[in-house]
Amino acid sequence: MKKIPFVTKEQIAEITKTYPTPFHIYDEKGIRENARKMKKAFSWNKGFREYFAVKATPNPFILKVLQEEGCGVDCSSLTELMMSEACGFKGSDIMFSSNVTPAAEYKKAKELGAYINLDDITHIDFLEKEAGIPETICCRFNPGGVFKMGTDIMDNPGDAKYGMTKEQLIEAFKILKTKGAKRFGIHSFLASNTVSNDYYPTLAGILFNLAVEVKEATGVEIAFINLSGGVGIPYTEDKEPNDIEIIGEGVRKQFEEIMVPNGLSDVAIFTELGRFMLAPYGGLVTKVIHEKHIYKEYIGVDACAVNLMRPAMYGAYHHITVLGKENEPCDHKYDVTGSLCENNDKFAIDRMLPKIDMGDYLFIHDAGAHGFAMGYNYNGKLKSAELLLKEDGNVQLIRRAETPEDYFATFDFCDIFKK
Ligand SMILES: *Cc1c(COP(=O)(O)O)cnc(C)c1O
Repeated sequence: MKKIPFVTKEQIAEITKTYPTPFHIYDEKGIRENARKMKKAFSWNKGFREYFAVKATPNPFILKVLQEEGCGVDCSSLTELMMSEACGFKGSDIMFSSNVTPAAEYKKAKELGAYINLDDITHIDFLEKEAGIPETICCRFNPGGVFKMGTDIMDNPGDAKYGMTKEQLIEAFKILKTKGAKRFGIHSFLASNTVSNDYYPTLAGILFNLAVEVKEATGVEIAFINLSGGVGIPYTEDKEPNDIEIIGEGVRKQFEEIMVPNGLSDVAIFTELGRFMLAPYGGLVTKVIHEKHIYKEYIGVDACAVNLMRPAMYGAYHHITVLGKENEPCDHKYDVTGSLCENNDKFAIDRMLPKIDMGDYLFIHDAGAHGFAMGYNYNGKLKSAELLLKEDGNVQLIRRAETPEDYFATFDFCDIFKK
């Protein structure tokens, strides 16, 4: 599907008068419309809730927008819990799906009344000792082996550090029951960034059958099944996006076939999507500041991998639009690079684009999730601002750009940087 930026060159020219590039910009309208579609697709399930994976876009203003659309939050660290608390999420608004969890994080999650999702059977004693066992508790399942859909191998759970085996999960439920837990959840995340309407229904089938087995083996009350993250987006134009309505219907079919006949029709479905909720509704806007002609043609921009790490880290493709040149032919081949002293700092390699001129603005698509969030400070580069394009067309600053003072703040115990 053709990728069209949600801002025009004229809008960006206006915005940069107040907020210089580079910056991330998010589309409130797109976020809200998508969240509503998501909710509607699963409205057949009474207890359905999407718990937005905070790690994808940890910004309180974004969390507030999703909160208004009825979402909860999925956290996996102390600061994510703190941010969620500050936004007014509490109790059953919060899933805590962590792994290798420090004691302080379990304490905080318990104090907030969050749903705690245990990554391992050994965490039962750890949690009991550090924070106590809550009445509702969730365990994360890892089926091992390879995860297939039809004949396609989607991912390799047998190699993943997450979750417990089926035997451990059943044992964990029995132990938790003796320790006072009353309601139980089952969670699993088997494949990342799936562009297929079959992923959730396939996963649901596996987890629903497991729920039936667990109920028979332990007699516990299953309160929810958490399908977690993994419904993805197409980063390239040659693929079509997932259809959440079809996905919701696919899960419903499995629910009616497996859960309903086994007396599990009251079980709630939870999701923990990050990418699907935000990625297409955020873009990284950067200005062309250099060009270089050596063995290849290079375009140098004022953003770098610090602002969007996925291309450098995974070789991920992010579509690029040269703003104002949407309809010009892509007849120039460029490497689009940032300024890090690392040759993998390239937003695009051998990319066909319209002829680029100094001062052009590039819109790097699908940066709304796992974009700003993965940022780092290598080479002393500073993180950019985040802006929200409001439904009324105004632009709101939702995170200021870092300053050198922020960068040096961790030396505040000494006086080297004191003026
Ligand atoms: C990362 C993560 C998610 C969100 O994944 P997406 O690919 O962004 O949908 C959900 N749950 C857990 C436990 C995660 O680690």
